[in-house]
Amino acid sequence: MTSHPTPARIVDLIERLGRSVRLRGYADNLNPAQWEALRYLARCNARSNTPTALAGFLGTTKGTVSQTVTALERKGLVRKAFRPGQGRALSIKVTGRGRDLLRRDPTEAIETAMCRLVDQDRSGSADAVRETLNGLLRIVQDACAQRSYGQCRTCRHFQADAPGGLPHRCALWDEPVSAAQANEICAEHQPA
Ligand code: SF4
Repeated sequence: MTSHPTPARIVDLIERLGRSVRLRGYADNLNPAQWEALRYLARCNARSNTPTALAGFLGTTKGTVSQTVTALERKGLVRKAFRPGQGRALSIKVTGRGRDLLRRDPTEAIETAMCRLVDQDRSGSADAVRETLNGLLRIVQDACAQRSYGQCRTCRHFQADAPGGLPHRCALWDEPVSAAQANEICAEHQPA
């Protein structure tokens, strides 16, 4: 008979995995928060590359985020600029050097291991694990009143192949969304 792990054991495994991911974040002269910020800025949409959105994603204060961004900027990995027509509001963009560094992302090894597990999976359980983790994340985020920061294509405001789209649309901002933008993460994302 198969014995199922208890919920407490699963939480323990998630914690250990998280620790392992964080430990890998001390690489290439960056710390885990700097890696996380760089990854977020490379994946988020153009409306979400603000210091406030980044602070929300990292679950930290604007002061701490400012130090993280300054460190990344000093290393030439990101560039700050004023948002056109929005006074002193800032956008933070990953530079070419930052994107080059992301090709050596230390969490890549974990992604590779995950891909191997998914390839070996014949029962479809990898999909079930992803769904369960997604559901768990949503419950925890709701309980802590955290934003979801999900992919655009999974948002309740996302309209696939909508008239006037590119080919999609965002109903919240009433703007076209390209196929590439549909895969970006967004600070205003609301689970569908
Ligand atoms: S559809 Fe949702 S996730 Fe996409 S841009 Fe609009 S608010 Fe953001």
